[in-house]
Amino acid sequence: METKGILTVVSGFSGAGKGTLMHALLQRYPDRYALSISATTRQPREGEADGREYFFKTKDEFEKMIAKDELIEYARYVENYYGTPRAYVEEMLEAGKDVILEIEVQGAMKVKKAFPDTLLLFVTPPTAEELKKRLTGRGTETAEVIGSRLCRAAEEAEGMGQYDYLIVNDKLDVCVEEMHGIIQGEHCRNFRNTQFMEKIKQDLQELKGE
Ligand code: 5GP
Repeated sequence: METKGILTVVSGFSGAGKGTLMHALLQRYPDRYALSISATTRQPREGEADGREYFFKTKDEFEKMIAKDELIEYARYVENYYGTPRAYVEEMLEAGKDVILEIEVQGAMKVKKAFPDTLLLFVTPPTAEELKKRLTGRGTETAEVIGSRLCRAAEEAEGMGQYDYLIVNDKLDVCVEEMHGIIQGEHCRNFRNTQFMEKIKQDLQELKGE
């Protein structure tokens, strides 16, 4: 079977619980997945560490990364830059890990265009009301930022239909298993196993001629 990892993009409204979900998935299956750490120009939130949640960069540093083609994709989101460093993703895919990019819709579409085999997953809370509740409950953002994230969510909702799978994040445990099942099932897709199929066809031809 295919030994290279699957590039998986996970998007979802800010506040949909993607971060918690990703960390639970990685904790449960540490050998299977690698989570890409993005670069961003936004300020660290309380409790965030450089190199763990993000690589925190100045605008100047970020623009240098763009110029040197060190990012697979980047996008502007609520006044800041966010981008995916290339080296780690390529290395982990070669090592056979399924690499997860937790990025917004614009970036997801760019990744899909550059790497058409990318699996696209969209995470949503059960209802819009629940999303607002989660954003407010986080307590780390001003009302203005919450407002702009809700506006952005309404825009992003327009892109949901372009994803391969929709994952409703209601119960964390259920959601983790659902996501793991989808990604692992994806390894069996026909188009990801062309080499395997060619080999078995050829071997059968040889065997039947013996
Ligand atoms: P936050 O500021 O809440 O950590 O992230 C804001 C948004 O940026 C989220 O939707 C997150 O998925 C997205 N994001 C994080 N890293 C990247 C990245 O490398 N590229 C793109 N395009 N979006 C990202």
